[in-house]
Amino acid sequence: MTESIANPAAPLGIYVHFPWCLQKCPYCDFLSVAAARDAIPHRAYADAVLRELEARLPELTRAYRLETIFFGGGTPSLWATEELGRVLQALLAAFSASRAKEVEITAECNPTSLDLEKARALAAVGVNRLSLGVQGLDAERLAFLGRLHDPNGGLEAARAALESAMPRVSLDFIFGVAGQAAEQAAAEARTLAALGTTHLSAYALTIEPGTDFGARAKKGRLPLLEEAQVADSFLAVDEALSEAGFDHYEISNFARQGDVSRHNLGYWRGYDYLGLGTGAWGTVTLASGRVRYRTTPSPERFVGSRFTRPFEVALDTTAVVEPLDAETSLRERIMLGLRLAEGFDLQGAAAELGVPALPPERGRALDRLTARGRIEVADGRLRIPKSKWLFADGIISELL
Ligand code: SF4
Repeated sequence: MTESIANPAAPLGIYVHFPWCLQKCPYCDFLSVAAARDAIPHRAYADAVLRELEARLPELTRAYRLETIFFGGGTPSLWATEELGRVLQALLAAFSASRAKEVEITAECNPTSLDLEKARALAAVGVNRLSLGVQGLDAERLAFLGRLHDPNGGLEAARAALESAMPRVSLDFIFGVAGQAAEQAAAEARTLAALGTTHLSAYALTIEPGTDFGARAKKGRLPLLEEAQVADSFLAVDEALSEAGFDHYEISNFARQGDVSRHNLGYWRGYDYLGLGTGAWGTVTLASGRVRYRTTPSPERFVGSRFTRPFEVALDTTAVVEPLDAETSLRERIMLGLRLAEGFDLQGAAAELGVPALPPERGRALDRLTARGRIEVADGRLRIPKSKWLFADGIISELL
């Protein structure tokens, strides 16, 4: 793809979904299917992703500059490394292999499928960032969360990732679990930070409908923390990681030395992203305009698909195709941009999209929110003050 000053290429992320896990966690509402490693169609799945790429690529009309690739799941560290590598090399070749070193390439991993050898193998095929789901450092809580590893397994995998040749490593953990005091959440954050990682993601446990936890909560059979206790943990984790030199740059994400997730920043800043793999969502610009789509969520259908007419709804190919008009795109930019500490340039985004920034109703909502200290406006940017991040969902919905 070419780039010129008159027509600069737009940044693009690629998301590749790998749907299998060794076991389904009871809180998880991602598209993930439990399977033994040997039962996964490693090669056939890679072939299907490559067919999907070949079908979707010619339909993209915008000049793109590939910035990031993210293998998410599911558990992509279960995927045979040579197959993940084959997909990765095809993606780089399809855009611009000469810039491969500048592309952030992340693979999500679980402790049960990551050791030193695996981390080195992933680095050897071109992955330059690992995102490891440690999720907790307490045996009872890990068992409650249905995780297959114990605290030591999580720590060993994290050390292996950090000792390997992998340039960047991010660790994920969950707080706000029943029985966990705020100080325990902060202590786990400190322990993970002390391993030497430069990126941490900290998620409050959420109970989603359609999950095992969702069903148990509905029957009143799931022990849960009070909202105020979760809020205390959020603040305690924020304090612990700030002291450890991390910048809290997004509601659930912390980085030191500027090591932010460029891929996720792309979502929050409203860049286009090409979704590949079963159940993946994507947002791309076609000749007909910008669309949001979802690849078929059935792994079996996906593996068998020929991907004819890739941007039309069909059982084996694409489950959803929705046009994204400028107003919808602006609402999404507001929703995602306000999750960031850097905030969001509402006027700039509205001008770019050619729609009014503040129709009367949104103007009134913004006045109310600024008067209550829930939004600050500075240097042309809107921001939710960090002390109000816990209420971000409500604040954002008022503005939409
Ligand atoms: S390992 Fe991750 S993707 Fe797989 S079931 Fe558990 S939470 Fe979901």
